Amino acid sequence: RQAVYAALRDVKPVSRDGQRVYVKMNAGLRDDMANLSLTGADGIGLFRTEFQFLVSATLPQRERQTRLYRDVMDAAGDKPVVFRTVDIGGDKTLPYLRHDDGEGEENPAMGWRALRVALERDGLLKAQARALLEAAAGRTLHVMFPMVAEPWEFDEAKAVFDGQLAYLKQQKKILPEAIRYGVMLEVPALAEQLDLLAPKISFLSIGTNDLTQFLFAADRSNPKLAERYDWLSPAILRFIRRVVRNLDGFNIDISVCGEMGGRRLEALALLGLGVRRLSITPASVGPIKEIIGRVDLREIEAAMEGWLAAPPENLRTTLSEWASERDI
Ligand code: PEP
Ligand code: MG
Repeated sequence: RQAVYAALRDVKPVSRDGQRVYVKMNAGLRDDMANLSLTGADGIGLFRTEFQFLVSATLPQRERQTRLYRDVMDAAGDKPVVFRTVDIGGDKTLPYLRHDDGEGEENPAMGWRALRVALERDGLLKAQARALLEAAAGRTLHVMFPMVAEPWEFDEAKAVFDGQLAYLKQQKKILPEAIRYGVMLEVPALAEQLDLLAPKISFLSIGTNDLTQFLFAADRSNPKLAERYDWLSPAILRFIRRVVRNLDGFNIDISVCGEMGGRRLEALALLGLGVRRLSITPASVGPIKEIIGRVDLREIEAAMEGWLAAPPENLRTTLSEWASERDI
């Protein structure tokens, strides 16, 4: 694997028509950071902070969180790292964080998880906010909130960070040089309210894993449904296109950080929708960078426009043929 990574490490993700695309990688543990230089990714577009919680037998104390975040930023050097606040609850349960009623949930994916937990147990979010702000002293901090469904959830989460920032200021600590806030778009309801949220955020990352399960009402962990819905369905693609268009005119970096972006045809489709930033699993970084180099983005955009206006029988087959004809 290292040899494959190395061969593609220095490939620049620039399209045939000269447009720069940003290919970042997803990570969650210290050890993942070695992949950054091995793959030549443009940064970490999704650092899943809950991994530290999931591999720990007890709630990681704030100092341990700070140490991890600092190590991760040190390892990334000049490249940006987007830290997603904890996405626990639902199927990612922690033995040391019990539900108030001690009951399991019937629909954990749609249940008490992610920001919903963090806002209610705000001690958790306060500690994480402080850890991130301290770890980012003197640098730029990128914070992303998961499972935001309503703009007020973003406001509340950001207020927790503002509170911790005020405290650190008062303590005369070194603060981050800049803080950029963003959200994951994985709950369809948020897509209908983007105009309300857009002025407050710097970036938005489409989490296609959860978004797909919520759009199709299909549990992402149920193997019986795994083959049923295609990422290349007009439903997903039109949805993403609308999000991209609705944010046009706002100064917001849009990326896709779900598994979809790491697959050849899916990545092509996303490029055709105007997405220019992907964050994907490290093993896909090299191959996707290579594909980008072979695509004329204006051409795929025009083709996608036609396919979404009048969807062919099977968009996957159509796109696959289109790509093969062009040696992509
Ligand atoms: C997603 O939902 O697409 C995502 C990237 O987050 P996770 O897979 O951690 O839920
Ligand atoms: Mg998700």
